[in-house]
Amino acid sequence: MICAPTENRLSIEKSDAGRRGLFCKNPLRARAKVPANLRRKAAPRLPELSEFDVVRHFTRLSRLNFSVDTHFYPLGSCTMKYNPRFNEEAAALEGFAALHPLAHDTCSQGTLELLHDLSARLTELCGLDAITLQPAAGAHSEFTGLLLAKAYFEDKGETRTEIVVPDSAHGTNPATASMMGFTTVNIASEPDGRLNVEELKKHIGPKTAVLMLTVPNTLGIFETNIEAIAKAVHEAGALLYMDGANLNALIGLVKPGDLGIDMMHLNFHKTFSTPHGGGGPGAGAIVCRKHLAPFLPVPTVRKEGGRYVSDFGDKRTIGKVKAFFGNTGVLVKAYAYMLAHSAKEFGDIARYSIINANYVRALLKDLYPSYSKEHCMHECVLTPGEDMTAKGLKTLDVAKGLIDRGFHAPTIYFPLIVHEAIMIEPTETESKETLDEFVAAMKDVHDQGVADPQSLKDAPRTLPVRRLDEVLAARQPNLRW
Ligand SMILES: *Cc1c(COP(=O)(O)O)cnc(C)c1O
Repeated sequence: MICAPTENRLSIEKSDAGRRGLFCKNPLRARAKVPANLRRKAAPRLPELSEFDVVRHFTRLSRLNFSVDTHFYPLGSCTMKYNPRFNEEAAALEGFAALHPLAHDTCSQGTLELLHDLSARLTELCGLDAITLQPAAGAHSEFTGLLLAKAYFEDKGETRTEIVVPDSAHGTNPATASMMGFTTVNIASEPDGRLNVEELKKHIGPKTAVLMLTVPNTLGIFETNIEAIAKAVHEAGALLYMDGANLNALIGLVKPGDLGIDMMHLNFHKTFSTPHGGGGPGAGAIVCRKHLAPFLPVPTVRKEGGRYVSDFGDKRTIGKVKAFFGNTGVLVKAYAYMLAHSAKEFGDIARYSIINANYVRALLKDLYPSYSKEHCMHECVLTPGEDMTAKGLKTLDVAKGLIDRGFHAPTIYFPLIVHEAIMIEPTETESKETLDEFVAAMKDVHDQGVADPQSLKDAPRTLPVRRLDEVLAARQPNLRW
């Protein structure tokens, strides 16, 4: 976007004494009875701007953003799919949006019914027995899951202190384990990216509480040994936790419960199409088997003779991980999404997300070799080819080059086990045309880099800021550009 250089000023720098946006008298002001000793002595230093100035200022800032509504967003492991507007309408219905969180069960039958039905549909989809909708995101669900495991082993009178995590895992897995005071045991993946059962057996035993396994894993590959893995974990008396962030590859095709897992998490902002935050609330869930159900957070919803009631469980519950039933507004959006799809269409979500990832992978494989030599699931992990690396070009240069071409960069440098990783997840909601444009942009970045490496190292050129020292930018953000 082109803008006059003076537009880059902060709102306070645009301030002009005496300019106002609102001309009517504030009716509340006259009535406010703030005691004199609590009133401020000097007026606050706020920008003095006209309403039009303010609208233009914030509209311009909003247009500097990349978002799923404006750009293809192939962020691997994040499932940045389209957020249907219908979900927003459902969540905004007054009966849901205006319900007081302390309203009695008799006054909240509609919301309780929704939570009950959502719970039933999700446990069925996962092939498991029970669920909590309280967690606020995936990482919070992991935390909840490990609390369940802890309570489960305490109840059995067992002390187990170790969480086993493959080296391909998302950083939240070992982070959750250490937050909970467990020791993390790392296992190296095989060259094909999978977990080797014999290797696993060397790392599990009476101290093992849980194996946290991402399925399909972060390389976009299905753990074909999962049943043998589950058997080994159970023989050691431990629990198998599935990180379900990648459920988009399995939804409607496989019930994770059939694979032998004990519990898994869901990320509603990934698989179930709710927005990825932006500062707003998120939602996650833990779905589990019967033996973990008594420890679930409360309340859950129970049906009793045609009525829905809050169920506070018994003393085995881990308590609450979030107020009330969790971020109910987000759950309404996920429910709307579920109702909009038949069982077959859920399978299509997985099928199209897998086809799209393989389409991108196949078209790019000559310029950007794929880490894995086999077909991928819903995402592919590529690296820059030798003709690029020979010229000193890195994954970061590819990412910056894509930004200049109007694409949000894919996930880069993750998973950590792949040197110079570029992780692309198109999701099922992107069209062939968009994928073709993205592939063309990736090829164009390659050609630019090989022909003139320095010019690609200078990318991005089209944004308000060029290359930042990203660590410094995160630690000491300089918002005055
Ligand atoms: C996104 C993700 C998480 C964390 O989920 P949040 O909802 O972002 O907290 C965990 N594991 C994997 C594999 C993920 O992709």
